[in-house]
Amino acid sequence: MSTAKVYFTDMRTKVGESLLSKMERLIDKAGISQIDFKQKYTAIKIHFGEPGNLAFLRPNFAKVVVDKVKALGGMPFLTDCNTLYVGRRNNALVHMEAAFENGYSPLSTGCHNIIADGLKGTDDVEVPVAGGLFCKTARIGRAIMDADIVLSLTHFKGHEATGFGGALKNLGMGSGSRAGKMHMHNDGKCTVNQELCLGCQVCAKFCNQKAIGFGSNKKALIDNDKCVGCGRCIGVCNFHAIENNSGTSFHDLDCKIVEYVKAVVDGRPNFHINVVNQVSPYCDCHNESDAAVVPDIGIFASFDPAALDKACIDAVNQAPAVETSILGDKERTHKAETGHDHFADIHPGTHWQDQIEHAEKIGLGSGSYELLTLK
Ligand code: SF4
Ligand code: SF4
Repeated sequence: MSTAKVYFTDMRTKVGESLLSKMERLIDKAGISQIDFKQKYTAIKIHFGEPGNLAFLRPNFAKVVVDKVKALGGMPFLTDCNTLYVGRRNNALVHMEAAFENGYSPLSTGCHNIIADGLKGTDDVEVPVAGGLFCKTARIGRAIMDADIVLSLTHFKGHEATGFGGALKNLGMGSGSRAGKMHMHNDGKCTVNQELCLGCQVCAKFCNQKAIGFGSNKKALIDNDKCVGCGRCIGVCNFHAIENNSGTSFHDLDCKIVEYVKAVVDGRPNFHINVVNQVSPYCDCHNESDAAVVPDIGIFASFDPAALDKACIDAVNQAPAVETSILGDKERTHKAETGHDHFADIHPGTHWQDQIEHAEKIGLGSGSYELLTLK
């Protein structure tokens, strides 16, 4: 696949110019105005952040994109689908409350929030996946499919099941309705290493599916019929006792996410922005956000979501670990086994390369990019 252009600006500002106006210059430079927005419904796919998490993107970043779309004649809305697990974003009512609580309102961003798959996560469209090897169709939130144009605005961070969470994860998993998320997640079942498990029961508190019980030896056991493969228990077990033994399962999850992205963007203008700040080790779906693992890096923009994510991965991997973070802990205790792949060091068993390689394989995007820096 050909080399894609990815535009980048760092987090530095000069007196008199805010990061937000630098971000506007970045998306202008990256060519957002090449899209004809006039009178077009424009879905801006975002993650409003699980309440309690403080690493999600500030609404101020969304306002820059909303204002730009409006200036170009478009009709923007911010959107996400409901979650599979029980939490504070699993139906449209609580999801909207969570968005407001985290500062996303028409007053702050200049546009409405629409929960794309409706009240109970059932309002979806079955979309063919051209060239899909894992999914013939994808179940996407209706409001996202009803839009004429799709943009993504993503907080780039780590992820316990996919290694990293970037534009591909935001667009793919995030645009899936509840049925779509089940479809993607179902292969990612976990098991408990009985030798490592100390029976502390923390995992059971975090499992919203009530899939974790305890045997007569007081060690955790996962009921595969209830488990939806969200991977949350892996992240909360301090003793590394919960594993996804099947590399193929996480591999399949990565590939399905990428195929869902293809369903979302195929045949429609699309453009993508990643903000690489507060790079937390886990997804913004967590109701907590552990300390950033690397220093803030900057903002990236591209028409190619795969190249965009690859540029962010490379930038994070080239950055030093924050000593006081989980990555710093792992480096100190020699558990950072690769010494250069921060994502694999934080989440052993994940393989971020799968998303990029599969995106190339199905013609979604490119793993090679030219990085153009804006001062
Ligand atoms: S959190 Fe880990 S150690 Fe504690 S019960 Fe669950 S699997 Fe066992
Ligand atoms: S992956 Fe873990 S937390 Fe998620 S549903 Fe299964 S057992 Fe529960």
